[in-house]
Amino acid sequence: MSKPTWLHENFEHTGSAFGLRVTRKLDEVQSPFQKIEIWESTDWGKVMLIDGAMMVTTRDNFFYHEMMAHAPLYTHADPKDVVIIGGGDCGTLREVLRHPGVQRAVQCDIDEQVTRMAEKYFPELCESNNDPRATVMFDDGIAYMANAAPESVDVIIVDSTDPVGPAEGLFNRAFYANCLKALRPGGLLVQQSESPLALMDLILDMRRAMQDAGFASFRTLPFPQPCYPTGWWSCTIAAREPRDLTRFREADAEAKPFDTQYYTAAIHRGALAMPPIMAKALGE
Ligand code: SAM
Repeated sequence: MSKPTWLHENFEHTGSAFGLRVTRKLDEVQSPFQKIEIWESTDWGKVMLIDGAMMVTTRDNFFYHEMMAHAPLYTHADPKDVVIIGGGDCGTLREVLRHPGVQRAVQCDIDEQVTRMAEKYFPELCESNNDPRATVMFDDGIAYMANAAPESVDVIIVDSTDPVGPAEGLFNRAFYANCLKALRPGGLLVQQSESPLALMDLILDMRRAMQDAGFASFRTLPFPQPCYPTGWWSCTIAAREPRDLTRFREADAEAKPFDTQYYTAAIHRGALAMPPIMAKALGE
């Protein structure tokens, strides 16, 4: 066992950092798209970094994967067809497939190496990859949504890296317009929308681009995510038609037929209780 040391990620845009005590680097691969590293920590299990940014730890990934899947799926009236853009660690896919009503879930990540590393070091996140309803494919999500059949999807989940590099084109009007075209009536788009504490301008830009693309209603739900910049993260839900996104299938969420570590109907309600700092910035 190597002597423990510290692995830090400095967040230049927030003037902060996050550190984990680690024992050794377990693996590293430079794919055609990004550099993927896996570390072993003393207290947080395995850690995946992409281009130096912490993506997933064994210990705290549940906050993110549960909120990115269950909040939109319980907001939709009856989600059957789900597309995940990104999500290569497969944790969001696993959560989506916990919903018995989901008939088809397609995960389209640009980088196969992320999934291969997740299969090796985070097998618990990949436990549903062989579900007959699942399709795990590798392509640019921009192209996937551009070619998606009109009105073929109920919920699109954009579980991507930050809006730089290959993910940059997942945060603009053209991409959102393709998402809107692919959604059925009642359809929802949800996207990881970074930190409300440090990146509210990005959230405003995303919502504006979604609106310019034709989405009608929006709601940004904050939640904790310790290993991400500031530890306070969010997802933004956009609706194809005007609707009240503070309403969701509460009874179904209360009666959910699966265990979670964070998401509950009460947590969902809490995430909808907009803190003043967000309401003021979002004009809500
Ligand atoms: N939870 C993380 C976060 O909020 O930053 C995201 C985790 S997931 C590993 C991010 C994934 O987005 C990566 O696997 C990356 O390959 C994928 N990705 C980035 N750009 C993409 C694109 N244009 N199309 C599809 N997947 C993309």
